[in-house]
Amino acid sequence: MSTLLPSKNLLPGGERTAVTEADNFGRPLRNLRLSVTDRCNLRCAYCMPEEEYTWLPSRDILSFEEISSLVDVFCGFGVDKVRLTGGEPLLRRELHRLVRLLSEKPPLKDLAITTNGLLLSEQAAALKSSGLHRVTVSLDTLKRDRFLALTRRDALSGALEGVEAALRAGFAPLKLDAVIIRGTNDDELFDLLEYARERRAEIRFIEYMDVGGATRWSPEQVVPREELLARLEQRYGQIEPLPERTSAPAERFSLRDGTVFGIIASTTAPFCGSCDRSRLTADGIWYLCLYAAGGTDLKHPLRNGAGPKELRELLSRTWTMRTDRGAEQRLSMRDKRQALLGQDALRGNPHLEMHTRGG
Ligand code: SAM
Ligand code: SF4
Ligand code: SF4
Repeated sequence: MSTLLPSKNLLPGGERTAVTEADNFGRPLRNLRLSVTDRCNLRCAYCMPEEEYTWLPSRDILSFEEISSLVDVFCGFGVDKVRLTGGEPLLRRELHRLVRLLSEKPPLKDLAITTNGLLLSEQAAALKSSGLHRVTVSLDTLKRDRFLALTRRDALSGALEGVEAALRAGFAPLKLDAVIIRGTNDDELFDLLEYARERRAEIRFIEYMDVGGATRWSPEQVVPREELLARLEQRYGQIEPLPERTSAPAERFSLRDGTVFGIIASTTAPFCGSCDRSRLTADGIWYLCLYAAGGTDLKHPLRNGAGPKELRELLSRTWTMRTDRGAEQRLSMRDKRQALLGQDALRGNPHLEMHTRGG
């Protein structure tokens, strides 16, 4: 059964909607992760560990105008936050044009991007002037050899230059996301935190997740939230949790000197109960959960002439049926938990990949 919630959301024209529809667990839709490409210029071991991939056909990739039309429909349904992602979103040619289209939509109060940073030195200024609000750079290591081993590209300097370019362009405070993997980079917690602190950026430590793409995941490699906090407390003294009033996945904490950092404990302490996120792939398939086996095709209805009203009805029918709590279900598997999918399953259906779905 769905619930109707009071809403302060605005329709594209600025008009107020009366209600926002909630899913089966009373969760409204507010956040849309928009993947603009499934291609990437890195091959992170926790996301794209294989040698070969099945790519989405280019004829299926939504144009910026198609994405913009769909975002209007999502905004009418209650979405007020969009995060551009991928694959590597900055590989999408002229991304700043899409940013401009989206930034001109009054209902969108937050327009952000998650990027590996390699192309930020070329693009940060254009993204800023096109209206992008916030940037998150994924950065798992500060060691050149380790970056190469982890991503199969010798590109640490490009990522670090990207961070500086984003700061110069005025994206402050910048967020830095680091997936922490035991035996790989868990000895860099303090270095990463201090690198972020020196730049007044906020680092978020992400637990390694058993999502599609992470074919080499094992529970032993996960450094749980409690351990991360204990290690940081041992080094920096007492850590205070900061009250958080949003449904954002990161729990935020403060060190004695006021340095703020986050932990995203998707693996050991999932936050499905307040999950107001969904994902649209670059070819227009809408997923209600990172772990969902299937999604809803929005591209074909759009290309076959469905108007905003019909598309809105499709969103409503789909969202109000939502029961997804993927990470909680994975957690309940306890000792039986292994990598979600093998290489063959992913080859057969690229939509199951993290780099297709967006993180
Ligand atoms: N390429 C961009 C980047 O890396 O920032 C955007 C896409 S990437 C799929 C989005 C986020 O997903 C990144 O921060 C990445 O670290 C995270 N991610 C990918 N695989 C993950 C995994 N197995 N566990 C935790 N986070 C993961
Ligand atoms: Fe790494 Fe992001 Fe590319 Fe995945 S999509 S391989 S996380 S840079
Ligand atoms: Fe939301 Fe699914 Fe992630 Fe849970 S696992 S927080 S329902 S996307």
